[in-house]
Amino acid sequence: MDESAVDRVAAIERLAARRFDLLVVGGGIVGAGIAEAATANGLDVALVDRGDFASGTSSASSKLIHGGLRYLQMGDVRLVREAHQERRYLMNIVAPHLVERLPFLFPLYEDGPHRPIVVRTGVLLYSALARARLNGRIGRDRALRLVPQLRTTRLHSSALYADAKTNDGRLTIENIVAAAARGATVLNYASVTGVRPDGADVRVDGADVRVRAAAIVNATGPWLDHLRRLEDANARPSIRLSKGVHVVVDGGEDWGAAVTIPQSKVRVSFAIPWEGMLLLGTTDTLHEGAPDEATVTEEDVRAILAEADSAIEGIGPVRAAFHGLRVLPGGPGATANARRETVYMRGPTGMLSVAGGKLTTYRRIALDALAQLGVRNLDRTPRPLPGALGLAKVAWPIELDAPTRSHLLHLYGSLAADVVRPALEDPSLLERIVAGRPDLRAQAAWARAREWAVHDEDVLRRRTTAWLHGDSPRLALGSKHVSEVDAADPAARS
Ligand SMILES: Cc1cc2nc3c(=O)[nH]c(=O)nc-3n(C[C@H](O)[C@H](O)[C@H](O)COP(=O)(O)OP(=O)(O)OC[C@H]3O[C@@H](n4cnc5c(N)ncnc54)[C@H](O)[C@@H]3O)c2cc1C
Repeated sequence: MDESAVDRVAAIERLAARRFDLLVVGGGIVGAGIAEAATANGLDVALVDRGDFASGTSSASSKLIHGGLRYLQMGDVRLVREAHQERRYLMNIVAPHLVERLPFLFPLYEDGPHRPIVVRTGVLLYSALARARLNGRIGRDRALRLVPQLRTTRLHSSALYADAKTNDGRLTIENIVAAAARGATVLNYASVTGVRPDGADVRVDGADVRVRAAAIVNATGPWLDHLRRLEDANARPSIRLSKGVHVVVDGGEDWGAAVTIPQSKVRVSFAIPWEGMLLLGTTDTLHEGAPDEATVTEEDVRAILAEADSAIEGIGPVRAAFHGLRVLPGGPGATANARRETVYMRGPTGMLSVAGGKLTTYRRIALDALAQLGVRNLDRTPRPLPGALGLAKVAWPIELDAPTRSHLLHLYGSLAADVVRPALEDPSLLERIVAGRPDLRAQAAWARAREWAVHDEDVLRRRTTAWLHGDSPRLALGSKHVSEVDAADPAARS
Protein backbone atom coordinates (compact mmCIF):
# COMPACT_ATOMS: atom_id res chain seq x y z
CA MET A 1 0.00 0.00 0.00
CA ASP A 2 1.16 3.49 -0.88
CA GLU A 3 2.15 5.38 2.30
CA SER A 4 0.06 8.39 1.19
CA ALA A 5 -3.00 6.22 1.93
CA VAL A 6 -2.39 6.82 5.65
CA ASP A 7 -1.75 10.56 5.35
CA ARG A 8 -4.63 12.27 7.22
CA VAL A 9 -4.29 15.60 5.48
CA ALA A 10 -4.27 14.01 2.03
CA ALA A 11 -7.28 11.87 2.96
CA ILE A 12 -9.25 14.89 4.16
CA GLU A 13 -8.42 16.72 0.93
CA ARG A 14 -9.59 13.75 -1.13
CA LEU A 15 -12.79 13.46 0.91
CA ALA A 16 -13.60 17.08 0.15
CA ALA A 17 -12.58 17.04 -3.51
CA ARG A 18 -13.85 13.79 -4.99
CA ARG A 19 -17.29 12.42 -5.74
CA PHE A 20 -17.19 8.80 -4.58
CA ASP A 21 -19.20 5.87 -5.87
CA LEU A 22 -19.75 4.77 -2.28
CA LEU A 23 -19.35 6.29 1.18
CA VAL A 24 -19.14 3.67 3.92
CA VAL A 25 -19.95 5.00 7.38
CA GLY A 26 -18.39 2.82 10.09
CA GLY A 27 -15.09 0.96 10.09
CA GLY A 28 -16.10 -2.15 12.00
CA ILE A 29 -15.88 -5.51 10.25
CA VAL A 30 -19.06 -4.85 8.23
CA GLY A 31 -17.93 -1.47 6.89
CA ALA A 32 -14.38 -2.74 6.37
CA GLY A 33 -15.66 -5.82 4.51
CA ILE A 34 -17.91 -3.68 2.33
CA ALA A 35 -15.02 -1.35 1.47
CA GLU A 36 -12.79 -4.33 0.64
CA ALA A 37 -15.40 -5.94 -1.61
CA ALA A 38 -16.49 -2.66 -3.22
CA THR A 39 -12.94 -1.70 -4.20
CA ALA A 40 -12.33 -5.21 -5.55
CA ASN A 41 -15.40 -4.68 -7.71
CA GLY A 42 -14.07 -1.43 -9.12
CA LEU A 43 -15.87 1.18 -6.98
CA ASP A 44 -14.26 4.41 -5.78
CA VAL A 45 -14.86 4.18 -2.03
CA ALA A 46 -14.57 6.43 1.01
CA LEU A 47 -14.79 4.97 4.51
CA VAL A 48 -14.96 6.97 7.73
CA ASP A 49 -15.23 6.00 11.38
CA ARG A 50 -16.05 8.37 14.20
CA GLY A 51 -13.55 6.59 16.46
CA ASP A 52 -10.80 4.17 15.61
CA PHE A 53 -11.41 1.41 13.11
CA ALA A 54 -12.70 -1.69 14.94
CA SER A 55 -13.23 0.32 18.13
CA GLY A 56 -16.88 -0.77 18.35
CA THR A 57 -18.14 -4.34 18.47
CA SER A 58 -15.53 -5.60 16.05
CA SER A 59 -12.74 -5.76 18.62
CA ALA A 60 -15.06 -6.92 21.41
CA SER A 61 -16.36 -10.21 20.06
CA SER A 62 -15.66 -13.71 21.37
CA LYS A 63 -13.08 -13.95 18.53
CA LEU A 64 -14.70 -17.07 17.11
CA ILE A 65 -14.95 -17.83 13.44
CA HIS A 66 -17.59 -20.43 13.83
CA GLY A 67 -20.73 -22.05 12.57
CA GLY A 68 -22.32 -21.46 15.98
CA LEU A 69 -23.35 -24.66 17.72
CA ARG A 70 -26.22 -22.92 19.45
CA TYR A 71 -27.74 -21.69 16.18
CA LEU A 72 -28.16 -25.33 15.27
CA GLN A 73 -30.13 -25.79 18.44
CA MET A 74 -32.34 -22.88 17.34
CA GLY A 75 -32.97 -24.70 14.05
CA ASP A 76 -30.84 -22.37 11.90
CA VAL A 77 -29.18 -25.05 9.76
CA ARG A 78 -28.76 -22.64 6.82
CA LEU A 79 -26.98 -20.06 9.01
CA VAL A 80 -24.65 -22.74 10.36
CA ARG A 81 -23.85 -24.14 6.91
CA GLU A 82 -23.11 -20.67 5.49
CA ALA A 83 -20.97 -19.74 8.48
CA HIS A 84 -18.95 -22.94 8.15
CA GLN A 85 -18.33 -22.21 4.49
CA GLU A 86 -17.12 -18.72 5.38
CA ARG A 87 -14.90 -20.21 8.08
CA ARG A 88 -13.26 -22.42 5.48
CA TYR A 89 -12.73 -19.45 3.11
CA LEU A 90 -11.20 -17.36 5.90
CA MET A 91 -8.95 -20.15 7.17
CA ASN A 92 -7.76 -21.32 3.78
CA ILE A 93 -7.71 -18.25 1.55
CA VAL A 94 -8.62 -14.89 3.05
CA ALA A 95 -6.62 -14.83 6.28
CA PRO A 96 -4.89 -18.13 7.08
CA HIS A 97 -2.47 -16.21 9.31
CA LEU A 98 -5.24 -14.68 11.41
CA VAL A 99 -7.81 -17.46 11.50
CA GLU A 100 -6.67 -20.56 13.33
CA ARG A 101 -8.40 -23.89 13.76
CA LEU A 102 -9.35 -24.62 17.36
CA PRO A 103 -10.82 -27.77 18.92
CA PHE A 104 -13.70 -27.19 21.36
CA LEU A 105 -14.47 -29.37 24.34
CA PHE A 106 -18.10 -29.53 25.47
CA PRO A 107 -18.07 -31.05 28.98
CA LEU A 108 -21.21 -32.86 30.06
CA TYR A 109 -21.76 -32.85 33.79
CA GLU A 110 -24.15 -35.19 35.54
CA ASP A 111 -26.26 -32.27 36.78
CA GLY A 112 -25.84 -30.23 33.56
CA PRO A 113 -28.68 -28.81 31.45
CA HIS A 114 -28.20 -31.17 28.46
CA ARG A 115 -28.73 -34.86 27.94
CA PRO A 116 -25.42 -36.31 26.58
CA ILE A 117 -27.17 -37.99 23.67
CA VAL A 118 -28.66 -34.65 22.52
CA VAL A 119 -25.27 -32.94 22.60
CA ARG A 120 -23.53 -35.81 20.82
CA THR A 121 -26.14 -35.82 18.06
CA GLY A 122 -25.87 -32.04 17.76
CA VAL A 123 -22.07 -32.20 17.55
CA LEU A 124 -22.25 -34.89 14.88
CA LEU A 125 -24.63 -32.80 12.73
CA TYR A 126 -22.56 -29.68 13.35
CA SER A 127 -19.38 -31.47 12.32
CA ALA A 128 -21.07 -32.85 9.22
CA LEU A 129 -22.10 -29.30 8.24
CA ALA A 130 -18.54 -28.19 9.00
CA ARG A 131 -17.12 -31.03 6.93
CA ALA A 132 -14.84 -31.56 9.93
CA ARG A 133 -13.44 -34.89 10.95
CA LEU A 134 -12.96 -33.87 14.55
CA ASN A 135 -16.04 -34.84 16.50
CA GLY A 136 -17.16 -37.34 19.04
CA ARG A 137 -17.08 -38.28 22.64
CA ILE A 138 -13.90 -38.32 24.69
CA GLY A 139 -13.06 -39.58 28.14
CA ARG A 140 -11.77 -37.78 31.21
CA ASP A 141 -8.04 -38.34 30.59
CA ARG A 142 -8.01 -37.02 27.05
CA ALA A 143 -10.20 -34.09 28.09
CA LEU A 144 -7.72 -33.23 30.84
CA ARG A 145 -4.80 -33.44 28.44
CA LEU A 146 -6.55 -30.89 26.22
CA VAL A 147 -7.72 -28.65 29.04
CA PRO A 148 -5.60 -29.18 32.17
CA GLN A 149 -7.82 -26.87 34.25
CA LEU A 150 -11.04 -28.73 33.40
CA ARG A 151 -13.25 -29.42 36.41
CA THR A 152 -13.82 -33.18 36.53
CA THR A 153 -16.12 -33.56 39.55
CA ARG A 154 -19.39 -35.11 38.26
CA LEU A 155 -18.01 -35.00 34.69
CA HIS A 156 -19.94 -37.59 32.69
CA SER A 157 -18.06 -37.29 29.38
CA SER A 158 -17.09 -34.57 26.89
CA ALA A 159 -17.95 -33.94 23.27
CA LEU A 160 -15.26 -32.63 20.95
CA TYR A 161 -15.71 -30.55 17.80
CA ALA A 162 -13.72 -28.02 15.77
CA ASP A 163 -14.18 -24.32 14.98
CA ALA A 164 -11.70 -21.46 14.64
CA LYS A 165 -10.55 -18.29 16.40
CA THR A 166 -9.18 -15.01 15.15
CA ASN A 167 -7.97 -11.58 16.18
CA ASP A 168 -11.09 -9.57 15.33
CA GLY A 169 -9.48 -6.13 15.52
CA ARG A 170 -6.71 -7.09 13.13
CA LEU A 171 -9.09 -8.86 10.76
CA THR A 172 -11.04 -5.61 10.51
CA ILE A 173 -7.97 -3.44 10.01
CA GLU A 174 -6.55 -5.76 7.35
CA ASN A 175 -9.77 -5.42 5.35
CA ILE A 176 -9.33 -1.66 5.54
CA VAL A 177 -5.70 -1.94 4.47
CA ALA A 178 -6.82 -4.06 1.50
CA ALA A 179 -9.43 -1.46 0.51
CA ALA A 180 -6.92 1.40 0.86
CA ALA A 181 -4.37 -0.51 -1.21
CA ARG A 182 -6.95 -0.50 -4.02
CA GLY A 183 -7.44 3.25 -3.73
CA ALA A 184 -10.13 3.68 -1.08
CA THR A 185 -9.93 6.89 0.95
CA VAL A 186 -10.17 5.85 4.59
CA LEU A 187 -10.14 7.95 7.72
CA ASN A 188 -10.65 7.24 11.42
CA TYR A 189 -11.70 9.85 13.99
CA ALA A 190 -14.03 11.27 11.34
CA SER A 191 -17.69 11.33 12.34
CA VAL A 192 -20.70 11.59 10.05
CA THR A 193 -22.91 14.36 11.44
CA GLY A 194 -25.38 14.79 8.59
CA VAL A 195 -26.77 12.61 5.79
CA ARG A 196 -27.89 14.13 2.48
CA PRO A 197 -29.23 12.69 -0.77
CA ASP A 198 -25.88 13.35 -2.45
CA GLY A 199 -23.47 12.56 0.41
CA ALA A 200 -22.77 13.34 4.04
CA ASP A 201 -21.26 15.89 6.40
CA VAL A 202 -18.18 14.63 8.18
CA ARG A 203 -16.64 16.25 11.25
CA VAL A 204 -12.90 15.63 11.26
CA ASP A 205 -10.06 17.27 13.20
CA GLY A 206 -12.23 20.26 14.09
CA ALA A 207 -13.45 20.91 10.53
CA ASP A 208 -16.63 20.03 8.66
CA VAL A 209 -16.19 18.33 5.32
CA ARG A 210 -18.97 17.75 2.80
CA VAL A 211 -18.37 14.32 1.23
CA ARG A 212 -20.16 13.66 -2.07
CA ALA A 213 -21.11 10.09 -2.91
CA ALA A 214 -23.50 8.31 -5.25
CA ALA A 215 -24.44 5.86 -2.50
CA ILE A 216 -24.07 5.64 1.29
CA VAL A 217 -23.91 2.56 3.46
CA ASN A 218 -24.65 2.91 7.14
CA ALA A 219 -22.45 0.27 8.78
CA THR A 220 -22.45 1.83 12.23
CA GLY A 221 -23.52 -1.31 14.10
CA PRO A 222 -25.01 -0.35 17.48
CA TRP A 223 -25.26 3.28 16.29
CA LEU A 224 -27.38 2.26 13.28
CA ASP A 225 -30.52 4.11 14.35
CA HIS A 226 -28.55 7.24 15.26
CA LEU A 227 -27.35 7.50 11.69
CA ARG A 228 -30.79 6.64 10.31
CA ARG A 229 -32.17 9.57 12.28
CA LEU A 230 -29.60 11.87 10.67
CA GLU A 231 -31.20 10.89 7.36
CA ASP A 232 -34.79 10.94 8.63
CA ALA A 233 -35.54 12.55 11.98
CA ASN A 234 -38.69 10.40 12.25
CA ALA A 235 -36.99 7.04 11.63
CA ARG A 236 -38.42 4.46 14.05
CA PRO A 237 -36.11 2.26 16.14
CA SER A 238 -35.16 -0.80 14.13
CA ILE A 239 -32.80 -2.69 16.42
CA ARG A 240 -32.26 -3.78 19.99
CA LEU A 241 -28.89 -4.03 21.68
CA SER A 242 -27.56 -6.76 23.89
CA LYS A 243 -24.40 -6.24 25.91
CA GLY A 244 -21.75 -8.94 25.93
CA VAL A 245 -18.80 -8.70 28.32
CA HIS A 246 -15.56 -10.69 28.31
CA VAL A 247 -12.76 -10.90 30.83
CA VAL A 248 -9.13 -11.74 30.13
CA VAL A 249 -7.28 -13.82 32.72
CA ASP A 250 -3.85 -15.41 32.90
CA GLY A 251 -3.71 -18.97 31.60
CA GLY A 252 -4.61 -21.01 28.57
CA GLU A 253 -1.06 -21.32 27.24
CA ASP A 254 -0.98 -25.08 27.76
CA TRP A 255 -4.53 -25.67 26.56
CA GLY A 256 -5.12 -27.64 23.35
CA ALA A 257 -8.81 -26.75 23.13
CA ALA A 258 -11.35 -24.13 24.13
CA VAL A 259 -14.21 -25.06 26.42
CA THR A 260 -17.87 -24.55 25.58
CA ILE A 261 -19.56 -24.37 28.96
CA PRO A 262 -23.27 -25.17 28.99
CA GLN A 263 -25.12 -22.68 31.19
CA SER A 264 -28.71 -23.46 30.30
CA LYS A 265 -30.58 -25.24 27.54
CA VAL A 266 -30.03 -22.26 25.21
CA ARG A 267 -26.93 -20.53 26.55
CA VAL A 268 -23.29 -21.49 26.60
CA SER A 269 -20.27 -19.50 27.74
CA PHE A 270 -16.70 -19.96 26.51
CA ALA A 271 -13.21 -20.26 27.89
CA ILE A 272 -10.89 -19.65 24.94
CA PRO A 273 -7.09 -19.77 24.88
CA TRP A 274 -6.39 -16.56 22.97
CA GLU A 275 -3.19 -14.60 22.30
CA GLY A 276 -1.41 -16.35 25.19
CA MET A 277 -4.20 -15.53 27.66
CA LEU A 278 -7.56 -16.99 28.56
CA LEU A 279 -10.69 -15.23 27.33
CA LEU A 280 -13.85 -15.86 29.36
CA GLY A 281 -17.37 -14.85 28.44
CA THR A 282 -19.77 -13.71 27.46
CA THR A 283 -22.85 -12.13 28.99
CA ASP A 284 -26.07 -11.39 27.14
CA THR A 285 -28.13 -8.62 28.70
CA LEU A 286 -30.53 -6.22 27.04
CA HIS A 287 -29.01 -2.74 26.81
CA GLU A 288 -31.66 -0.05 26.62
CA GLY A 289 -29.57 3.14 26.83
CA ALA A 290 -27.45 4.82 24.16
CA PRO A 291 -24.57 2.64 22.87
CA ASP A 292 -21.99 4.93 24.45
CA GLU A 293 -23.53 4.43 27.89
CA ALA A 294 -22.72 0.71 28.07
CA THR A 295 -19.92 -0.25 30.48
CA VAL A 296 -18.48 -3.30 32.15
CA THR A 297 -19.87 -3.61 35.66
CA GLU A 298 -18.50 -5.56 38.61
CA GLU A 299 -21.62 -7.71 38.39
CA ASP A 300 -20.77 -8.62 34.78
CA VAL A 301 -17.26 -9.68 35.80
CA ARG A 302 -18.54 -11.66 38.78
CA ALA A 303 -21.14 -13.44 36.62
CA ILE A 304 -18.54 -14.41 34.00
CA LEU A 305 -16.11 -15.76 36.60
CA ALA A 306 -18.89 -17.73 38.32
CA GLU A 307 -20.02 -19.27 35.02
CA ALA A 308 -16.46 -20.16 34.03
CA ASP A 309 -15.87 -21.67 37.47
CA SER A 310 -18.54 -24.29 36.79
CA ALA A 311 -16.12 -26.00 34.38
CA ILE A 312 -12.67 -24.47 34.95
CA GLU A 313 -10.55 -24.78 38.08
CA GLY A 314 -8.02 -22.28 39.40
CA ILE A 315 -8.97 -19.30 37.23
CA GLY A 316 -6.17 -16.69 37.22
CA PRO A 317 -6.47 -13.02 38.14
CA VAL A 318 -8.49 -10.72 35.85
CA ARG A 319 -6.14 -8.66 33.68
CA ALA A 320 -8.66 -6.83 31.52
CA ALA A 321 -12.34 -6.69 30.62
CA PHE A 322 -14.27 -5.32 27.68
CA HIS A 323 -17.81 -5.11 26.37
CA GLY A 324 -19.47 -5.19 22.98
CA LEU A 325 -23.03 -4.61 21.83
CA ARG A 326 -24.88 -7.15 19.69
CA VAL A 327 -27.31 -5.70 17.22
CA LEU A 328 -30.51 -7.70 17.14
CA PRO A 329 -33.44 -7.07 14.85
CA GLY A 330 -36.09 -5.12 16.83
CA GLY A 331 -38.87 -7.30 18.18
CA PRO A 332 -40.03 -9.12 21.27
CA GLY A 333 -38.31 -12.02 22.99
CA ALA A 334 -35.31 -12.69 25.19
CA THR A 335 -31.98 -11.64 23.68
CA ALA A 336 -30.33 -15.06 24.14
CA ASN A 337 -33.02 -16.57 21.90
CA ALA A 338 -32.98 -13.78 19.32
CA ARG A 339 -31.73 -14.71 15.88
CA ARG A 340 -28.41 -13.19 14.93
CA GLU A 341 -29.71 -12.18 11.49
CA THR A 342 -28.48 -9.27 9.43
CA VAL A 343 -30.77 -6.26 9.01
CA TYR A 344 -30.81 -4.36 5.66
CA MET A 345 -32.93 -1.20 5.35
CA ARG A 346 -33.22 1.56 2.74
CA GLY A 347 -33.91 5.09 4.00
CA PRO A 348 -35.83 7.86 2.21
CA THR A 349 -32.72 9.35 0.57
CA GLY A 350 -31.45 5.90 -0.42
CA MET A 351 -28.96 5.20 2.40
CA LEU A 352 -28.57 1.46 2.97
CA SER A 353 -28.34 0.51 6.64
CA VAL A 354 -26.67 -2.83 7.39
CA ALA A 355 -26.21 -4.32 10.83
CA GLY A 356 -26.24 -7.49 12.85
CA GLY A 357 -25.00 -10.85 11.72
CA LYS A 358 -21.66 -12.25 12.69
CA LEU A 359 -18.00 -11.47 12.35
CA THR A 360 -17.71 -14.91 10.74
CA THR A 361 -20.02 -14.04 7.84
CA TYR A 362 -18.78 -10.49 7.21
CA ARG A 363 -17.79 -11.24 3.61
CA ARG A 364 -21.24 -12.54 2.79
CA ILE A 365 -22.88 -9.54 4.51
CA ALA A 366 -20.67 -7.18 2.49
CA LEU A 367 -21.49 -8.89 -0.80
CA ASP A 368 -25.22 -8.89 -0.04
CA ALA A 369 -25.02 -5.17 0.79
CA LEU A 370 -23.34 -4.42 -2.56
CA ALA A 371 -25.95 -6.53 -4.37
CA GLN A 372 -28.69 -4.50 -2.65
CA LEU A 373 -26.99 -1.32 -3.88
CA GLY A 374 -27.30 -2.66 -7.42
CA VAL A 375 -23.64 -3.51 -8.07
CA ARG A 376 -23.76 -5.83 -11.07
CA ASN A 377 -21.64 -8.92 -11.84
CA LEU A 378 -20.30 -9.03 -8.32
CA ASP A 379 -17.07 -10.98 -7.93
CA ARG A 380 -17.84 -13.18 -4.93
CA THR A 381 -14.60 -15.16 -4.91
CA PRO A 382 -12.67 -14.98 -1.65
CA ARG A 383 -9.45 -12.93 -1.96
CA PRO A 384 -6.35 -13.14 0.25
CA LEU A 385 -5.93 -10.19 2.60
CA PRO A 386 -2.54 -8.42 2.73
CA GLY A 387 0.01 -10.81 4.24
CA ALA A 388 -2.08 -13.91 3.56
CA LEU A 389 0.15 -15.16 0.74
CA GLY A 390 3.71 -16.43 1.08
CA LEU A 391 3.39 -17.48 4.71
CA ALA A 392 5.72 -20.45 4.29
CA LYS A 393 8.65 -18.46 2.92
CA VAL A 394 9.02 -15.30 4.95
CA ALA A 395 12.62 -14.03 4.75
CA TRP A 396 13.26 -12.49 8.17
CA PRO A 397 15.67 -9.55 7.88
CA ILE A 398 16.66 -9.90 11.53
CA GLU A 399 17.10 -12.69 14.06
CA LEU A 400 14.10 -13.24 16.33
CA ASP A 401 13.17 -16.03 18.74
CA ALA A 402 10.58 -18.55 17.58
CA PRO A 403 7.67 -17.35 19.80
CA THR A 404 8.13 -13.77 18.56
CA ARG A 405 8.31 -14.91 14.94
CA SER A 406 5.13 -16.92 15.29
CA HIS A 407 3.35 -14.03 17.05
CA LEU A 408 4.30 -11.66 14.24
CA LEU A 409 3.38 -14.17 11.54
CA HIS A 410 -0.02 -14.62 13.17
CA LEU A 411 -0.74 -10.88 13.33
CA TYR A 412 0.78 -9.74 10.01
CA GLY A 413 1.23 -12.84 7.88
CA SER A 414 4.02 -12.46 5.36
CA LEU A 415 4.15 -8.69 6.02
CA ALA A 416 5.79 -9.53 9.36
CA ALA A 417 9.23 -9.20 7.74
CA ASP A 418 8.40 -5.62 6.69
CA VAL A 419 7.17 -4.80 10.18
CA VAL A 420 10.55 -5.64 11.76
CA ARG A 421 12.82 -4.43 8.91
CA PRO A 422 13.23 -0.89 10.35
CA ALA A 423 14.88 -2.52 13.39
CA LEU A 424 17.98 -3.04 11.22
CA GLU A 425 18.48 0.73 11.50
CA ASP A 426 16.99 1.18 14.98
CA PRO A 427 17.48 -1.86 17.26
CA SER A 428 15.34 -0.24 19.99
CA LEU A 429 12.37 -1.25 17.86
CA LEU A 430 12.99 -4.83 19.00
CA GLU A 431 12.15 -3.92 22.59
CA ARG A 432 8.81 -5.15 23.91
CA ILE A 433 5.96 -2.65 24.16
CA VAL A 434 4.97 -4.22 27.49
CA ALA A 435 7.08 -6.61 29.57
CA GLY A 436 5.73 -10.13 29.33
CA ARG A 437 3.82 -9.62 26.07
CA PRO A 438 5.42 -10.55 22.73
CA ASP A 439 4.57 -7.29 20.93
CA LEU A 440 7.54 -5.22 19.72
CA ARG A 441 7.98 -1.48 19.46
CA ALA A 442 8.40 -2.05 15.72
CA GLN A 443 4.70 -2.95 15.68
CA ALA A 444 3.79 0.40 17.26
CA ALA A 445 5.82 2.20 14.60
CA TRP A 446 4.17 0.13 11.86
CA ALA A 447 0.70 0.83 13.32
CA ARG A 448 1.39 4.55 13.17
CA ALA A 449 2.99 4.55 9.72
CA ARG A 450 0.82 1.99 7.93
CA GLU A 451 -2.35 1.35 9.91
CA TRP A 452 -3.77 4.78 10.85
CA ALA A 453 -3.07 4.47 14.61
CA VAL A 454 -3.63 7.85 16.23
CA HIS A 455 -4.02 7.20 19.96
CA ASP A 456 -1.87 4.93 22.13
CA GLU A 457 -4.97 2.83 22.66
CA ASP A 458 -5.28 2.23 18.91
CA VAL A 459 -1.89 0.52 19.02
CA LEU A 460 -2.26 -1.29 22.32
CA ARG A 461 -5.77 -2.67 21.89
CA ARG A 462 -6.53 -3.12 18.21
CA ARG A 463 -3.29 -3.43 16.24
CA THR A 464 -1.20 -5.35 18.77
CA THR A 465 -2.04 -7.51 21.78
CA ALA A 466 0.03 -5.41 24.21
CA TRP A 467 -2.87 -4.37 26.43
CA LEU A 468 -3.91 -7.89 27.41
CA HIS A 469 -1.75 -7.90 30.53
CA GLY A 470 -3.52 -4.80 31.75
CA ASP A 471 -0.43 -2.58 31.39
CA SER A 472 -0.63 0.54 29.28
CA PRO A 473 2.63 2.37 28.69
CA ARG A 474 2.69 5.75 26.98
CA LEU A 475 3.92 5.29 23.47
CA ALA A 476 4.42 8.95 22.69
CA LEU A 477 3.21 8.56 19.15
CA GLY A 478 3.95 12.19 18.53
CA SER A 479 0.29 12.86 17.89
CA LYS A 480 -1.91 15.53 19.34
CA HIS A 481 -4.47 12.80 19.98
CA VAL A 482 -2.39 10.73 22.39
CA SER A 483 -4.66 9.36 25.11
CA GLU A 484 -4.29 7.31 28.23
CA VAL A 485 -5.67 3.85 28.77
CA ASP A 486 -6.65 3.24 32.36
CA ALA A 487 -4.86 0.06 33.33
CA ALA A 488 -5.84 -0.10 36.95
CA ASP A 489 -9.55 -0.53 36.47
CA PRO A 490 -10.55 -3.24 34.01
CA ALA A 491 -14.05 -1.77 33.75
CA ALA A 492 -12.66 1.54 32.58
CA ARG A 493 -10.84 -0.20 29.77
CA SER A 494 -13.99 -1.47 28.12
C1 LIG B 1 -20.13 -9.95 22.94
C2 LIG B 1 -20.12 -10.30 21.48
C3 LIG B 1 -19.49 -11.45 21.06
C4 LIG B 1 -19.49 -11.79 19.71
N1 LIG B 1 -18.82 -12.88 19.33
C5 LIG B 1 -18.78 -13.22 18.03
C6 LIG B 1 -18.00 -14.33 17.61
O1 LIG B 1 -17.30 -14.97 18.41
N2 LIG B 1 -18.02 -14.66 16.31
C7 LIG B 1 -18.76 -13.96 15.39
O2 LIG B 1 -18.75 -14.36 14.23
N3 LIG B 1 -19.46 -12.86 15.75
C8 LIG B 1 -19.47 -12.47 17.04
N4 LIG B 1 -20.16 -11.36 17.43
C9 LIG B 1 -20.80 -10.52 16.41
C10 LIG B 1 -19.80 -9.58 15.74
O3 LIG B 1 -18.83 -9.15 16.64
C11 LIG B 1 -20.54 -8.38 15.16
O4 LIG B 1 -21.56 -8.85 14.32
C12 LIG B 1 -19.65 -7.46 14.35
O5 LIG B 1 -18.47 -7.13 15.03
C13 LIG B 1 -20.43 -6.20 14.00
O6 LIG B 1 -19.62 -5.35 13.25
P1 LIG B 1 -20.15 -3.96 12.72
O7 LIG B 1 -19.16 -3.48 11.74
O8 LIG B 1 -21.56 -4.08 12.27
O9 LIG B 1 -20.23 -3.01 14.00
P2 LIG B 1 -19.08 -2.28 14.84
O10 LIG B 1 -17.86 -3.07 14.93
O11 LIG B 1 -19.70 -1.84 16.12
O12 LIG B 1 -18.71 -1.02 13.95
C14 LIG B 1 -19.51 0.13 13.85
C15 LIG B 1 -18.59 1.33 13.68
O13 LIG B 1 -19.35 2.47 13.31
C16 LIG B 1 -18.70 3.60 13.84
N5 LIG B 1 -19.64 4.73 13.88
C17 LIG B 1 -20.73 4.88 14.66
N6 LIG B 1 -21.34 6.05 14.40
C18 LIG B 1 -20.62 6.67 13.42
C19 LIG B 1 -20.73 7.92 12.75
N7 LIG B 1 -21.71 8.80 13.01
N8 LIG B 1 -19.79 8.25 11.83
C20 LIG B 1 -18.77 7.40 11.54
N9 LIG B 1 -18.63 6.19 12.17
C21 LIG B 1 -19.54 5.84 13.09
C22 LIG B 1 -18.27 3.14 15.23
O14 LIG B 1 -17.22 3.94 15.75
C23 LIG B 1 -17.84 1.70 14.96
O15 LIG B 1 -16.45 1.55 14.75
C24 LIG B 1 -20.16 -10.96 18.76
C25 LIG B 1 -20.78 -9.80 19.20
C26 LIG B 1 -20.75 -9.45 20.54
C27 LIG B 1 -21.38 -8.18 20.98
